[in-house]
Amino acid sequence: MRLLIIEDERDLANALAKGLRREGYNIDLACDGEEGLHMGQVNDYDMLILDLNLPRMDGMEVCRRMRAMYPAILILMLTARDAPEDRVAGLDTGADDYLIKPFHFSELTARIRALFRRDSRAHELILACGDIKLDPASHVAWLNNRRLELTRKEFGILEYLMRHAGEVVSQEALLEHVWDERANLFTNTVRVHINGLRHKLGDDPDTPCYIETIIGVGYRMKAG
Ligand code: CA
Repeated sequence: MRLLIIEDERDLANALAKGLRREGYNIDLACDGEEGLHMGQVNDYDMLILDLNLPRMDGMEVCRRMRAMYPAILILMLTARDAPEDRVAGLDTGADDYLIKPFHFSELTARIRALFRRDSRAHELILACGDIKLDPASHVAWLNNRRLELTRKEFGILEYLMRHAGEVVSQEALLEHVWDERANLFTNTVRVHINGLRHKLGDDPDTPCYIETIIGVGYRMKAG
């Protein structure tokens, strides 16, 4: 899951980014509204964590524009305690939830998980492809009902491929969704993690049961 934090208080933004990366999320940071909106348009995020009081463009305007362009994106707003009218306006503007500053980090992660859970329930709670099952909300995957011990990147790749089962997924799409802006695009990092994932699935790349290589294009999770 790739998240964009738009927050002008640098210390808070960095602390949130560090903590959320530790939780397995891919995090990008923007420190004003215009930069946030730009990054939101250039990259493909699953969720925005959006401060309301921002320089250059306020959070309400960012929320309105992002919601208009990307109806499916999740938006969690950060609001100040002394402005209750902002919370109502924020929800009216299209935010999915809000959190009042100051908050405990554990409250933020609980809200994020709840939003993703609500979202996946709206779509599909547990993903399944053949003998593989994956629960995006709890970050657990199983093969033949045996729990898979996956790294964060392997889990992210598997989730993305399963969400697009039957479709060819390019290496660029995987880099976009599973990595953040710190990814080095000129390494064979995707291939390395795909190989690790195949190994754990017991999948032979020459005669794959699950992940096919489409030479020169990308990868495809076999549907069904
Ligand atoms: Ca602020």
